[in-house]
Amino acid sequence: MPFTNKQPVTAYGDQVRMQSVNLSKRRVPKPHVTIKYFEKDFEDLFLKGLGGLRPDGTEDALYRGRTTARNSAVGGFVLSSGLRRQEFTYLLECEMPPLPPRRTELPIWVPLPPGVTKGRKFRTTWTTYGPLAQQGAMPSGPGARDLISFLASVAGKLARAATEDPTVVGSDQEVRTLLAEIAGVLHLGVANYCWFIDPAKALCLKLAGTPNATKPLAGMCDSARCPQATHHPCHRPVWAESVKTKKVFIESIGRNHKTEKARLTTDLERDIKVLASIDATA
Ligand code: SF4
Repeated sequence: MPFTNKQPVTAYGDQVRMQSVNLSKRRVPKPHVTIKYFEKDFEDLFLKGLGGLRPDGTEDALYRGRTTARNSAVGGFVLSSGLRRQEFTYLLECEMPPLPPRRTELPIWVPLPPGVTKGRKFRTTWTTYGPLAQQGAMPSGPGARDLISFLASVAGKLARAATEDPTVVGSDQEVRTLLAEIAGVLHLGVANYCWFIDPAKALCLKLAGTPNATKPLAGMCDSARCPQATHHPCHRPVWAESVKTKKVFIESIGRNHKTEKARLTTDLERDIKVLASIDATA
């Protein structure tokens, strides 16, 4: 028998009995592995610090750290999954769990290979959608493919330079020089980023009939159709709010305004599509 039993003798009146008591116990976690959570406001401050931000969320001009977005994203992932230092230091990109196709509130399973865990024992943990999405946030929209290929080419150039001359470390200045080529044409918008590389491709200029203009016309921007537009997770709230407002507005339109209703419905479908593409690539 796999359990230890003791056999006490019980007596009640003139009845004497031999009992059998199973002494096995449920396993309980050892005190040193009990999960302890940081206070929410400390977590917030910590992630802002990693991201080079002040406690109020504004940029800290005195901060001298590098790769702040990456640091903050990894910090968020570690806090959500409870990885040990050794585990997140050596975890490879290909060992990260795949991002679910849609945003979900359910926890996401994170298997940790024995090579990185304490005691070299395979273990699993959990994370949530937001921190995992930040590990590989990609742009979406008509111009996303060009932007991704350009950034991949910058990474390729840096990797080649390091292979050809291992003594040369890709410095911030080197990266800046490579990115400057495209940074000059970037225009930040609340609903999209505009990569004004080729005025001939700018949809707003075509619509305005001014193909020779040297600046985009943000007021006529149709980022869902322009090949120079990209959408990023930071633009999601604007599109989500737009969907919500349009739905309410469409509901309130009377039967006699069919044209207006059809036009707004088309706009709503476009917004829903943009929102879905941000979620799919976030
Ligand atoms: S339509 Fe929008 S994204 Fe395209 S060039 Fe004009 S401002 Fe930029």
